[in-house]
Amino acid sequence: MPDIRPTVSSTALVLNQTYEPLCVVSVRRAAILILSGKAVCVADGDGVLHSARQALPVPLVIRLSRYVRVPYRTHVGLSRRAIFARDGGRCAYCKAAAETIDHVLPRSRGGRHAWENVVAACARCNHTKGDRTPAELGWRLHVTPVAPKGMAWRGLGHRTPDPRWADWLDLPRAA
Ligand SMILES: [Zn+2]
Repeated sequence: MPDIRPTVSSTALVLNQTYEPLCVVSVRRAAILILSGKAVCVADGDGVLHSARQALPVPLVIRLSRYVRVPYRTHVGLSRRAIFARDGGRCAYCKAAAETIDHVLPRSRGGRHAWENVVAACARCNHTKGDRTPAELGWRLHVTPVAPKGMAWRGLGHRTPDPRWADWLDLPRAA
């Protein structure tokens, strides 16, 4: 059993054998997968873990030794954090820092609360827009709102990804 010392990163990204992001696990769980031969470390984090017999660099990203089949379609919860992550934390109308969620077609006019009709927005644009559509205001969207695809979202939709995972994730980079 590895003796886990407090480290900067407490979680590791798990990639499938095909390098497709699968999920996020604790560093402890990642170390156990490596020590049991079920995964290999792809990128080291900061620090070293010590078990009774060996020292192991803190895993930052690991890759499973065997392919894990996952269901094709995964539902991603429509959370505020997931919407901000999809839109890079920027207002869809003016690219300022987003603070709110806006329904492109307002709910008062039948707009659905769905991935295709929600965008991150700054408070000013959201307030100015009110119950009008972007077309009525002559506004253009800087993003096309779609449901996020890909396994990266399976385990990350509700948490902030470690920026050091960016090379393995197809996520918008927040400025
Ligand atoms: Zn704005």
